[in-house]
Amino acid sequence: MKKTFNHIFKHIFNHIFLFFLMLNISHIDITNIALAKTSSVETTSSDSSIPLQISIVPLENTTSYFTQNKKIHILSEYVVTNLDRKPIQINSITLSTTLKNKTLSKEGFNSDKIKSLFSLLGGDYLKDQNPALNVGESGIIFLESIVSYEKQIPDKLHSIFSITQNETNKTITIRPESISISKSKPITISSPVKGKNWVSVNGPSNKSLHRRIISTNNGKITIPEKYAVDWVKIDDKRDNLYKNNGQTNDDFFSYGQEVMAVADGKVVVVKNGIPDNDISNEKVSTEINQNNVSGNYISIKIGKDLYANYSHLREGTLRVKMNDKVHKGQVIGLLGNSGNSTAPHLHFQLSSSSDIFNSKAIAYQINKFIKHEYALDVTKKVKVISSNKITKESVVENEIIDF
Ligand SMILES: [Zn+2]
Repeated sequence: MKKTFNHIFKHIFNHIFLFFLMLNISHIDITNIALAKTSSVETTSSDSSIPLQISIVPLENTTSYFTQNKKIHILSEYVVTNLDRKPIQINSITLSTTLKNKTLSKEGFNSDKIKSLFSLLGGDYLKDQNPALNVGESGIIFLESIVSYEKQIPDKLHSIFSITQNETNKTITIRPESISISKSKPITISSPVKGKNWVSVNGPSNKSLHRRIISTNNGKITIPEKYAVDWVKIDDKRDNLYKNNGQTNDDFFSYGQEVMAVADGKVVVVKNGIPDNDISNEKVSTEINQNNVSGNYISIKIGKDLYANYSHLREGTLRVKMNDKVHKGQVIGLLGNSGNSTAPHLHFQLSSSSDIFNSKAIAYQINKFIKHEYALDVTKKVKVISSNKITKESVVENEIIDF
């Protein structure tokens, strides 16, 4: 678990930094990934009698998806292991979706693009890396397919990898097992917070911190926070997280905001008694361990193998107890800064279990909200371009939302 905690530690420490990073760079439009032309990927070996020994396995055989602007986003991952006797290089990947064998989308990634999608296992999952594997090494590829839908949802995701053995230039094409796309739509919930100007920091995307937190569950590699959001509230001018100098939790607009049940359900975990962290010294109030990493914590069972999990709540504010039946919209506690967190925020996600790190992440939609489309002006301030009422869609990374 140590590795997992290191990643969480890093991810929480980056919260404030990330938000300001967001204000200082153009909003990255992940739909703008240009189609890369893939070269011919047939074998060019001079000695075709000895095939390269490469394993490419999807992390999950079945995946769900999230939705945005009438498009579906399918996140997938493949673990590549070099079982060959020489180093190898991933040249290109082609990703396609089909419905009943009819192609709905196709996208290519050249080796330059793959740099931001690849990491050696155990490496820095957020840093761009050359997609190369020495003998015996394993790496993971993080992919996203975005498919426009007009009632057509693909049922399969396919990939084609072109891989070269560095020394001999022997190149092979591998078609890993296809991934089934869940037939059912993402579950719809109500919002976990309410009011204006909430930012979905680290929300679903292919590059968010949550997306790149790798854990293991009973020997299986998982990405348990894939669809999680760190909700933070900003001011009405939409340019600050806090008033005064931001040296106390109370300075933060998020701190003490009401946190709600997102669906009817039953409370299955309540963890309280962890002091909120002192924002001024950026140190956590208690040594972080497996029991307090999520801080004051509530898990609500809202369906079969379906749990709404709320982390970092404010000490002493939890309004539910074990086995309570709660209804959608009921206030269950207040937003805080407990556990492995250095700024007040609500880490919220749906999972297949009440234990985040031993569960599968579940994609979801929110029943209604107002989304503020924005750009950054020359002084790097948020300038809202339009505000639109949205029903039954997912919230993705770094959106500004009113509930
Ligand atoms: Zn988080």
